[in-house]
Amino acid sequence: MVMTEQTILGYLSEILDPEIPVLNIVEMGIVRSVFFENEKVVVTITPTYSGCPAMRMIEDNIVEKLKENGCGEVELKTVYTPTWTTDWLNEITKKKLQQYGISPPHTTSDNHFVEITLPKKISCPYCQSHQTSLKSDFSSTACKAMYYCNACLQPFEYFKEI
Ligand SMILES: [Zn+2]
Repeated sequence: MVMTEQTILGYLSEILDPEIPVLNIVEMGIVRSVFFENEKVVVTITPTYSGCPAMRMIEDNIVEKLKENGCGEVELKTVYTPTWTTDWLNEITKKKLQQYGISPPHTTSDNHFVEITLPKKISCPYCQSHQTSLKSDFSSTACKAMYYCNACLQPFEYFKEI
């Protein structure tokens, strides 16, 4: 079977983000590009939130997955510019987050129109209510904040925008 960039991307989209198991690393925008250099497959990746410990695991998973599928040599290149932003998550991806019970990030470009002093309206992923309050800036990971919905009385996580 002839491997193309598209085939490789297909394999990579089977790898789920260890912290958000409903999203794969392609949807997350972690995989930036795939190309061949002679026999070698080169995958460029951009880390999400700096210091996310999951990156190490993701790198191992990429190499393992491609080897499993018959790629001989795999090289990972980490690219830091442009920096990863939650704006790379498309609407379908955000919907998946919401269905999983995580309030999706706001688009950072919208922030220019928001007064810094105004608290952001974070909507509850279960009932869409804006009657929510911040419980803790850090939940299980640095990427998410813990909120509480005052309408349906459920705690939920908010995927912080960067
Ligand atoms: Zn709610």
